Amino acid sequence: MLRLVALGRIYTCDRLAKWGMDINLQCQLCNTQPESIQHLFFGCNYTGQLWARLLKWMHIQRPCMEWEGGLKWVEKWCKGKSSRAEVYKITLTAAVYFIWKESNQRVFQQKRRSIEDILKHIAQEVYFRAI
Ligand SMILES: [Zn+2]
Repeated sequence: MLRLVALGRIYTCDRLAKWGMDINLQCQLCNTQPESIQHLFFGCNYTGQLWARLLKWMHIQRPCMEWEGGLKWVEKWCKGKSSRAEVYKITLTAAVYFIWKESNQRVFQQKRRSIEDILKHIAQEVYFRAI
């Protein structure tokens, strides 16, 4: 999943529309911008709040970034085999997964979860995978 996101290969609304699908192009998380991979994972207001909370949780101080800066930052912080880098990787992977899942649940099941609920799921995932 993380690799597909980094390569820009997940099926966001902008990609589906290019293939001629008649769909709502609006981001389901913020409902203010068209959904693209860059928007969904780094530009979205909803996702930005989630990243800010995760960074604070991991005691990392950095502003939310756009796509290119965000990917470079991820490469730098997740490099190596230290326990800290492993926790960052697990957190990042879980966050990407739950952001994508939330977007899809809103489209296909009309279910909405709060940022707090998603953070709880990410924390559980990190806890179970890190021990
Ligand atoms: Zn959005």
